[in-house]
Amino acid sequence: MDFKEKKETVIFGERRIEYSLKKSRRARNVRLSVSCEGAVSLIIPWRLSLERGKEFLQSKISWIIEKVDHFEKHKSKHLPKSTRRDYLANKLEALEIAKNKIRYFNNLYGFDYAKISVRDQKTRWGSCSRRGNLSFNWKIILLSETQRDYVIVHELCHLKEFNHSGKFWKLVEKAVPDYKKIRKEIRKL
Ligand SMILES: [Zn+2]
Repeated sequence: MDFKEKKETVIFGERRIEYSLKKSRRARNVRLSVSCEGAVSLIIPWRLSLERGKEFLQSKISWIIEKVDHFEKHKSKHLPKSTRRDYLANKLEALEIAKNKIRYFNNLYGFDYAKISVRDQKTRWGSCSRRGNLSFNWKIILLSETQRDYVIVHELCHLKEFNHSGKFWKLVEKAVPDYKKIRKEIRKL
C-alpha cells in the first residue's frame, strides 16, 4: 500500500469524477479538496484504510459535484481567438488595469489578497486560488469597462465567498448593481 499518488474515478449517476488519491504520513485527517481549476484531490492518513477514505469521498459526493460545476461555470467557450504574440504585447497593460481595478473596488470590500497575475487562458476570464491569488485573462482589456469591472469584482468576491450562493451575489451587487445583465452579455461573448 505504499504509493504517492494515483488517479481514481468515482461514478455518481451520469457523472464520472476523476480525482487524485494520496496516502500521507503527515495528514491526521482525511482531506478532500477541489482546486480552483476544478481538480479533485483526496488525501488519506496512513493509519486509515483506503476503503474508509473512499467512503468519506462518497459521503461528500454532492459537495464535490457542486464545486466542480462551479468551476465549469467560469468557463466561457467563445473567448476571442488570439496568438501568443497578442498575449505578450498586451499582458503588462492588462496587469496594470487589473491591479488598479482591484485596488479601487477593494476600497469597498477590504478583503485580503495575495498575488494578482495575468495569464493567457483559453476558456476563463478569471480565477482565484485558496491562497488568495487572483488571476485574469489578458483579454479583459478587450471588454467594455462595465464588463471588465464585473469580471474583476466577481473574482474579488470569491475571496470571501468561494461559491455562487445568494451571499456571493449580494457582495457582487454592492459594486456592480446590474451584474445580471452584464453576466448575460459576457456569456454570449
Ligand atoms: Zn464565480
